[in-house]
Amino acid sequence: MAKKKAKKASGPAKKGKSIKYVYSFGGGKADGNESMKNLLGGKGANLAEMAGHKDLRLPVPPGFTITTEVCIDYLAAKRTYPKQLKVQVDTALATVEKLMGKKFGDASNPLLVSVRSGARKSMPGMMDTVLNVGLNDVTIKGLIEKTKNERFAWDSYRRLIMMYSDVVMEKAEGIEPKNGKGIRKTLDERLGEVKKQKGYKLDTDLTVADLKQLVADFKAKVREVLGKPFPENPQDQLWGGIGAVFMSWNGKRAIDYRRIEKIPDEWGTAVNVQSMVFGNMGDDSATGVAFTRNPGNGDPRFYGEYLVNAQGEDVVAGIRTPAPINEASKNDQSRDLPALEKTMPKCYNQLFDIQKRLEKHYKDMQDIEFTIEQGTLYMLQCRIGKRNGTAAVKIAMDMFREKLIDSDTALSRVAPMQLVELLLPMVDPKAEAATKAIGKGLPAGPGAAKGRAVFTSEDAAAWASRGEKVILVREETSPEDVDGMHKAQAILTSKGGMTSHAALVARGWGKCCVVGCEGLEVEAKEFKTKSGEVVHEGDWITVNGTKGLVYRGELNLVNPDLEHNATYVELISLCNKTRKINIRTNADTPKDTAQAVKFGAEGIGLFRTEHMFYGEGSDKPLFLLRKMIMSKTPQERRNALSELEPFVKRDIKATMEVLNGLPVTIRLLDPPLHEFVPHSEDKLAALAQELGINLAEVKKRGDSLKENNPMLGHRGVRLGVTYPEVSEMQIRAILEAAGELIKEGKKAYPEIMIPVTGTVNEIIDQKKIVDKIYAEVCKSLGLSKIPYLYGTMIEIPRAALTANKMAEVAEFFSFGTNDLTQMGFGFSRDDIGSFLPDYLEKKILKDDPFQTIDQEGIGELIRFGIDRGRSTRAKLKIGICGEHGGDPDSVKFCHRVGMNYVSCSPFRIPIAILAAAQAVIEDKRAKKK
Ligand code: PEP
Ligand code: MG
Repeated sequence: MAKKKAKKASGPAKKGKSIKYVYSFGGGKADGNESMKNLLGGKGANLAEMAGHKDLRLPVPPGFTITTEVCIDYLAAKRTYPKQLKVQVDTALATVEKLMGKKFGDASNPLLVSVRSGARKSMPGMMDTVLNVGLNDVTIKGLIEKTKNERFAWDSYRRLIMMYSDVVMEKAEGIEPKNGKGIRKTLDERLGEVKKQKGYKLDTDLTVADLKQLVADFKAKVREVLGKPFPENPQDQLWGGIGAVFMSWNGKRAIDYRRIEKIPDEWGTAVNVQSMVFGNMGDDSATGVAFTRNPGNGDPRFYGEYLVNAQGEDVVAGIRTPAPINEASKNDQSRDLPALEKTMPKCYNQLFDIQKRLEKHYKDMQDIEFTIEQGTLYMLQCRIGKRNGTAAVKIAMDMFREKLIDSDTALSRVAPMQLVELLLPMVDPKAEAATKAIGKGLPAGPGAAKGRAVFTSEDAAAWASRGEKVILVREETSPEDVDGMHKAQAILTSKGGMTSHAALVARGWGKCCVVGCEGLEVEAKEFKTKSGEVVHEGDWITVNGTKGLVYRGELNLVNPDLEHNATYVELISLCNKTRKINIRTNADTPKDTAQAVKFGAEGIGLFRTEHMFYGEGSDKPLFLLRKMIMSKTPQERRNALSELEPFVKRDIKATMEVLNGLPVTIRLLDPPLHEFVPHSEDKLAALAQELGINLAEVKKRGDSLKENNPMLGHRGVRLGVTYPEVSEMQIRAILEAAGELIKEGKKAYPEIMIPVTGTVNEIIDQKKIVDKIYAEVCKSLGLSKIPYLYGTMIEIPRAALTANKMAEVAEFFSFGTNDLTQMGFGFSRDDIGSFLPDYLEKKILKDDPFQTIDQEGIGELIRFGIDRGRSTRAKLKIGICGEHGGDPDSVKFCHRVGMNYVSCSPFRIPIAILAAAQAVIEDKRAKKK
């Protein structure tokens, strides 16, 4: 793919046709615009929009964007650029020089630029940046002359050497630092030494003389460690920076992040070269990050943080505690720090006005970066702000009410999986009230989590792979930590604000996170709390990400009360008005059913009868089931079954009662019988006694049920064919439960479902039993009718292929996509774990087919089955009950192929409801196109 694209980009250029590789912006004009994200990356497209759109024309420092196509080209063509790039860059740079009245590399009035990445989708901190490009021993004199700020100039120079040697000379060259210590760390240590020697606390305490000496030291160290001098030539610096940013697309961090976020490798990153503006030119300068609404809870007020006299990444790096931009942005950590609206009211008011215009223009919450250079405000970036699930729902519904967006847009703004966050457990308020928190920080990621403390990303990943629940504790996180952050239950940092790296990433994932935990001292294998308590590696802690609290030990977690969340309720009711497909649940207890109905389930799509033989209260029915299984003669079996029937009926009836007339699809026993054979001697002995036979005979009977390939063995309908009395008992239990409820004046609507069928004759065989039992039950209960449907699962490819026949008898189909995927692919659903990672890594498969429907293959079987089934029975009711019923993409697929409903586990229902509504909206949009 990459190669193909590269050809496309460079091919015509070679033939002499001119391809535009460079897009300028600034001075109220721009070559590009917001719609060109694929080519210019998100950052580049939005810089163009802010600079050039007639409604905006914001104060954006001029610059230019090199397209993502060049990146792909460059990486594919072994780090060579398309021929015309140099000329285009020179021309664009000349325009910037003109707009700024400065010259790149000029000794008396030098232009400095930043070189930044910017992919189609934001990848916070995952790629590299170089600032202050263009500074050297000559141009620094001009900078000092122009700014009259010698300290600032030398500070900028030492930052350039640090960043450049790290990003361009080491990382982009693929140099593996010795002892794992990179050049940046080496230089950082040198800086630390100087501070220590001089007794300074802050970087800002360094004097001109200190910084000059540091620049000399840094250069010497770079030559010593990397074997090459830091390049003085500004053009070399510029092209080094551009190449390094492109190379960072294939850096480990970026690749890890792409895997998690499913960002395609072939997108590439753009490079933005932009005139530098400085937030570190004294106390009338600042830099900050802000959101047009609060990304943590959706509060509709302008929200952000800033640092006085700081440059670029300082806010995101989380090194200094940022101050709030206004009253609404204050938190426990920043309460006493001066707000921007007080310290620089003119700039704040201008910024406030700009953010209003930006939100109105983009009609969505914006994440903005700004810099104030000596009292002048500049906009460095705007993009759609990442937000957690709670904020996503609130912002979407608020904007809908404000009439900024319509209902379809509002529903499209929330990713179905984001609703999981609203369903996340919280710390039990009772347990919380009774426990003293050991730490308090900022609530950066929602929900609650408990786990064992670990202190490195590698440990988090290693412990998690052993099945341990862990919480990653760090002083601050960096993009290198994403893997461990992803695998941890929660993230806890001692430093950083609400816009720090940890907060940003956690918010994107909806992961529980507390940052800037006051007074926490994080060491290699332990942390110390403000009060001196020590928590060691492996100790359990509980984190409340909604309140920013940390507790020692395992606190009880409980589910949230969604019914009283008005915004959520409103979102769901909007979805219900929009969606066409019904949503049912897979449940087999009254408790789960009640929960599902609360979430909006419109019936049960799969009641697995075998579940009553597991878990709480199952001892007696399981014993009777075992007795039935171990029976030898039909009479023995019938005796056991008649003892078992009341238990089966009781469970079905209790669930039907909760449903109050909503349909319930009850599936007859599915698993191979051997699954229920007891292993322990005492259980076998009890059975022997009950059946009046000896232990050896019971063991023999159990062993005879063993199969080589039970998943393809004696299970599903095959049990009912061999042991009709087993089907009889279940059908009787279902119909009697329904009939009794009807007689009690209640409602019941069972759907009897036959599993694992592959030919219509199996359904015909079982239908005879149903008809017989139905007549008997109606008679014994004195009812003229018990409403019910008779149908089958479609989970064997042959069933899908002969669906026209199956529908002659079946009144409904339920696609069992777990088995259909298993049998369609020939992948054992229980053993796929051993090879799936390789399939995903090698891109043989895009996704796990047991999680999201393989639309190309298994999806075709479904389509085919639906068409054929409905060709026989036009009104055939069709649903899905495999795990895919709660996967958003699969739900959308089910809508498109014309199913009547999807069925999923109770906690997936809100996700399915939203996905079902989005499917309708996507349909509408596709038709419009
Ligand atoms: C299926 O196969 O999709 C299904 C729902 O049945 P089970 O998972 O119980 O085999
Ligand atoms: Mg199945």
